[in-house]
Amino acid sequence: MVSVSDGSVAQNGERVTSEPATAEMPKPSEALNGDAKGKRTQYIVWRNVILMTLLHAGAVYSVFLIPKAHPFTWIWSYLCFLMTALGVTAGAHRLWSHRSYKAKLPLRVFLAAANSMAFQNDIFEWSRDHRVHHKYSETDAIPTMPSHRDVIERGKKLDVSDLLADPVVVFQRKYYKTSVLVMCFMVPMLVPWYFWGESLWNSYFLSSILRYTVSLNVTWLVNSAAHLYGNRPYDKNISPRENRFVTFGAIGEGFHNYHHTFPFDYSTSEFGLRFNPTTCFIDLMCWLGLASNRKRATPEMVQARKLRTGDGSA
Ligand SMILES: [Zn+2]
Ligand SMILES: [Zn+2]
Repeated sequence: MVSVSDGSVAQNGERVTSEPATAEMPKPSEALNGDAKGKRTQYIVWRNVILMTLLHAGAVYSVFLIPKAHPFTWIWSYLCFLMTALGVTAGAHRLWSHRSYKAKLPLRVFLAAANSMAFQNDIFEWSRDHRVHHKYSETDAIPTMPSHRDVIERGKKLDVSDLLADPVVVFQRKYYKTSVLVMCFMVPMLVPWYFWGESLWNSYFLSSILRYTVSLNVTWLVNSAAHLYGNRPYDKNISPRENRFVTFGAIGEGFHNYHHTFPFDYSTSEFGLRFNPTTCFIDLMCWLGLASNRKRATPEMVQARKLRTGDGSA
């Protein structure tokens, strides 16, 4: 019915509001790949449930350690959180999944290390699954709850040659387990112990367990809350929404209706730097000469799209 010229959105009335839960925020990989024999993972992956329960119990316990820890450990844990988040937002998401800007080798190495700190599947897998997520949520042919196997199957049909052509991506994938051990657990734990005499117990629980658990939950919010709560000023026909709360936690990734409408935009938002630390970071990297070619939707494009498909809320 609605005619569309830019081809970025399919439009046959009904939209599916649920998303492939594993696509945007895959959980640690092994737990999701339990269907090697070809069975569909429509059942509960108990190993995953147990691991996640233990992790969250550890995170709750960590909260009680906060008053006992050195203030530098608090600051360090927060810095680790920011680096973790950038590894996903500026790295796997805006750089590798969407190619919304270009990054030189030193920056790609930093983002790959930060991405291992995030422990949300390696860059290749994350980006491939995320491209599937966009494909699913921007067309009508989406099964309500595809298994991780479906996501992988569909991922095989996408062009991921650009990812495999990046030696940083290939290297991180090859040494993923080691890099996670070092970046997600060892470095966050050892720095406070070595530099200001924090106990290994405190630094393990605060800088590794609590920081990791919070970052996982924030990323899940992008896939859940940002697809359920909020307005849709750019395209009312798709499920992703603008969600301030998620934007705040996910350092700029909650402008989700905008992002799914203009996925190539490096800022994932109409408002540039506002509420968007990831955009600030990419701009800083450009200023330092480590990044370039930032893609952006023009104000005219955004305005025209709002009038054509927006819900009139902004
Ligand atoms: Zn995206
Ligand atoms: Zn999404």
